[in-house]
Amino acid sequence: MRGLYPGRFQPFHYGHLSVVKWALEKVDELIILIGSAQESHTLTNPFTAGERIEMIKNTLSEYDIPSNRFYIIPLPDISMNSIWAYHVKSYVPRFHKVIGRNPLVIRLFKEAGVETENPPEFDRINYNSTYIRKLIIENDSRWKKLVPKSVIEVIEEIKGDKRLREIVG
Ligand code: NAP
Repeated sequence: MRGLYPGRFQPFHYGHLSVVKWALEKVDELIILIGSAQESHTLTNPFTAGERIEMIKNTLSEYDIPSNRFYIIPLPDISMNSIWAYHVKSYVPRFHKVIGRNPLVIRLFKEAGVETENPPEFDRINYNSTYIRKLIIENDSRWKKLVPKSVIEVIEEIKGDKRLREIVG
């Protein structure tokens, strides 16, 4: 059984990691789909698809999740929501269910006849990418408590915190 977990992961945080662990108890393999892969260097999407791949791959390795249990696949958005589920299907290995909470994502896959499952919410107040980006912009080091060590390392290596602050101006 293979599952698909779509997200922007801007950045990947402990909430996302908890969803991945939860999903891997239900499926043999998980496709982590990095959506909006064409986006980067903006306030809502500061990190490139490649940087997000590094964050996720390094984190799953940090947590000893075997690499044969997951795929990390970047995919640019398309302008037609009505065919997005088919667009996704044509770029990734076959999957049996979609794991996610985003209402548009759930609707589009349901309409395409794909089974969906909502993961629990994991401390959404803190494990929230918008909040984490806000803390980074405000130079508030509390963001480092909300993401895995591997994500901090990637962000520091690429000077992603400085990038975000400069985007805001
Ligand atoms: P995200 O904000 O990174 O979230 C990814 C998933 O993790 C969501 O299901 C989210 O639920 C869940 N999550 C986040 N924090 C959590 C926590 N603490 N506990 C439990 N679950 C948590 O990414 P997204 O914006 O949903 O990503 C959807 C992607 O699909 C985007 O790239 C979007 O552009 C793409 N998409 C593209 C098209 C198109 O190209 N036409 C159409 C639809 C979607 P919540 O939603 O509740 O935060």
